[in-house]
Amino acid sequence: MTQTIHCPTCRAAVAWSPESRWRPFCSERCKMIDLGAWLNEENTIPGVELPDELIDEFREEDPPRD
Ligand SMILES: [Zn+2]
Repeated sequence: MTQTIHCPTCRAAVAWSPESRWRPFCSERCKMIDLGAWLNEENTIPGVELPDELIDEFREEDPPRD
């Protein structure tokens, strides 16, 4: 029987087993997000979901091409 937990970062279901290398996170990315969140709130990691205020800055720097 495999217990299932939820990733603290993205709430994805994660099997609590040796195969889930990054548990309780679903992935290394989510682990790094969580670490970064308390290590330095200003330090964002590329490729992750950002707060709205940061997304606005990103859009200004790299506007979507239509
Ligand atoms: Zn996750």
